[in-house]
Amino acid sequence: MLQLPQKLRNVVEQFSKLPGVGGKSAQRHALFLSQFTEVELSEFSLVIKELKNLQKCSDCGLYLDEETCLICSSEKRKSSKTLCVVEGMTDCLAIEASDQYFGLYHILGGVLNPLLGIGPDELGLGRLRDRVNSDDIDTVILAVTPSVEGDATCAYLKEDLGSSVSVDRIGFGIPMGGSFEYLDPLTIMKALENRKRM
Ligand SMILES: [Zn+2]
Repeated sequence: MLQLPQKLRNVVEQFSKLPGVGGKSAQRHALFLSQFTEVELSEFSLVIKELKNLQKCSDCGLYLDEETCLICSSEKRKSSKTLCVVEGMTDCLAIEASDQYFGLYHILGGVLNPLLGIGPDELGLGRLRDRVNSDDIDTVILAVTPSVEGDATCAYLKEDLGSSVSVDRIGFGIPMGGSFEYLDPLTIMKALENRKRM
C-alpha cells in the first residue's frame, strides 16, 4: 500500500492533534504545506514556536499582547460586579461577539474530570473563589458547556462559592455538549437573558 514519506507523516501526526482535524484533513494540510517555499515554512513554524511566549492575564486567564488586561482593568466592567466563568478563550470571544455582556471573565481552562485527573486544584478553582471575594463580585455567571463534566463543575462551583454570591447558569438554547464558539450571537444573547439561578 502506498504510504506517505516519513517527513510528511510527521506533519500529519502533528495536525491530527488539533481539534476537529481528522486524518484526511491532516494529510491535505501536510501536502499543502509541502508546496510552501523555505521562507514560508520558516514563517509558519516561527509563529507557532512563538506561542510558547504567549502571555496570560494572571487574574482572568485571557491571552494578551499588553502588560495589563483591558478587560480586568476596565472600570466599567469592574463596576458591574459580574464575573462570567468560561472554559476557554474561544467561549469568551463568542460571548464578546454577542455584544450583550459587559462584565468580567474568568477562564477555567477546562472542566472537572476525575477520570483525566482534572480536579479543583488543576483548574485553580481556589483562585476563582479568592477573586470573587477580593473583587467584590456579587453575580457569577457560569457559561460552561452542558455536559456531565460541565454540570458537575457548575455544581461544585455553586457549593464552593457559597451563598454570599448569586450563581447563575447559562443554559437556555444551548444544546447538550454544545460549544459556545459554534453558536450564533443571537443564541448567546438569549442564553445570557434566560440564565437560571442555581
Ligand atoms: Zn484579565
